[in-house]
Amino acid sequence: MRTDLNIQYNHLERGILNFYRDPKEFEGSQKAADVMRDFGVDRRVVSADEVVQIEPALAPHRNSIVGGDFTADDESGDAYLFTSSLAKLAEEKGVEFRFSTRITRIISEHGHASSVEVINADGSYDSIKGDAFVVALGSFTPQLMRPLGVPCLIYPTKGYSATFQIKNKDLAPTVSLTDSSHKVVFSRLGDTLRMAGTAELSGYSRTLNPVRCRAMSDLAQDLFPEALDFNDVKYWSGLRPSTPSNVPLIGPTRLPNLYLNTGHGTLGWTMGPGSGRALADIISGKKPEPTFPFIGI
Ligand SMILES: Cc1cc2nc3c(=O)[nH]c(=O)nc-3n(C[C@H](O)[C@H](O)[C@H](O)COP(=O)(O)OP(=O)(O)OC[C@H]3O[C@@H](n4cnc5c(N)ncnc54)[C@H](O)[C@@H]3O)c2cc1C
Repeated sequence: MRTDLNIQYNHLERGILNFYRDPKEFEGSQKAADVMRDFGVDRRVVSADEVVQIEPALAPHRNSIVGGDFTADDESGDAYLFTSSLAKLAEEKGVEFRFSTRITRIISEHGHASSVEVINADGSYDSIKGDAFVVALGSFTPQLMRPLGVPCLIYPTKGYSATFQIKNKDLAPTVSLTDSSHKVVFSRLGDTLRMAGTAELSGYSRTLNPVRCRAMSDLAQDLFPEALDFNDVKYWSGLRPSTPSNVPLIGPTRLPNLYLNTGHGTLGWTMGPGSGRALADIISGKKPEPTFPFIGI
């Protein structure tokens, strides 16, 4: 897609480095790396010295790090820039996007989905007909599927991000990092460093809890005290559409022209292109490439 579309989204191919401070956790990383290698992902376990060689911004913390694992061909980028640029290109190719439009109901007739009822941005009602429908409503999928007798076990897991302006770029990381003890990740996005993490189960609210925001900022300050401007932080929260198994729901439902592409939890951007391609194949009557339990609920 990158080659074909030339989308600019602060993309970096510098790999992802998990670092560990707890020897037990580090021991466990070997097993996980073996599983990843079995699936063709080149993740290798590295010593603490190698960790700081791979990412020199961690050098001041060498003594608290016990080791790491590194996946050199992993990548990072700005998901918002990527998706909004992709939407623009799709629009140029004839896709019609209807933003600020709320779907209130999926209508079924004779065992088939026939239309969706929506409220437009100006408050007016509309009904949109279609030959086939893909439900990709993330955490909000169950509410619209329940009346159709299609149960979807998806619950919102709220995650936070904090984006810091970089004031000293030589001291800020360029490799994507996971601090395994704190379950947070750091990605360099141009002149900023984005930190993401936490899993809060608090319904559908996206309210930012100031205690969690402060904890993220404190951790970033502990790791990269001179690199970032702590007076210029943008906090954000989002709902990860989580399934009990962490496996997404992709495929047909019991209504033959109604499909699901949802429940991608922590990895929706990573899995989005593959899920989309597989579902397009299913809708076109082709066999999707990956071996996966494409659901039929
Ligand atoms: C802090 C954080 C960090 C993350 N980091 C990563 C990462 O590094 N890599 C990665 O791959 N993934 C990451 N994720 C996960 C990723 O964001 C999600 O998996 C992804 O957004 C799911 O995409 P989706 O389109 O299925 O659902 P969503 O992004 O939730 O989109 C669903 C859309 O449906 C709309 N909608 C819902 N109900 C209605 C309705 N009735 N009418 C109209 N529209 C409706 C919503 O407004 C929303 O726009 C992260 C998530 C968070 C919160």
